[in-house]
Amino acid sequence: MAIRQIVKLGDEVLRKKSFAVTDFGERTHELLGDMYDTLKKANGAGLAAVQVGVLRRIFLVIKGESIEDGVYEMLNPEIIKESGEQYGTEGCLSVPGKWGEVKRPYKVTVKYQDRYGKPKTLKAEGFLAKAICHEYDHLNGVVYVDKADNLRAEEK
Ligand SMILES: [Zn+2]
Repeated sequence: MAIRQIVKLGDEVLRKKSFAVTDFGERTHELLGDMYDTLKKANGAGLAAVQVGVLRRIFLVIKGESIEDGVYEMLNPEIIKESGEQYGTEGCLSVPGKWGEVKRPYKVTVKYQDRYGKPKTLKAEGFLAKAICHEYDHLNGVVYVDKADNLRAEEK
């Protein structure tokens, strides 16, 4: 496993649409392992493959407060249901030191495949729903700064 370099805002790859995952074998598992290590090192809540320069529809989101609680690995995710609303602060590992407020659904239902290609469905709410929406946007070339109000540098 290895830590990969995180692509920063301004790199055009972040604006591209990621392609469907068709390989559920060793190569993808290696990418998932590297993404995990990279997310852990960066102390983030989620990471999409495009953020390490790989245009595949894959992201990780932490299950709880930290990566120690485990991560969901979502391959070819589709948000099939949204309800409610939340408005909260977001940041992004590709936009270091900045924060802004974004409106998101409070609950989402997401269909995805696990690393072996097995179909799964997850109902998420609150922070997890927000993280899933943020990462899902990355797969379509959208970065939260496109939607954020009051985008600002970190207060020291
Ligand atoms: Zn992000």
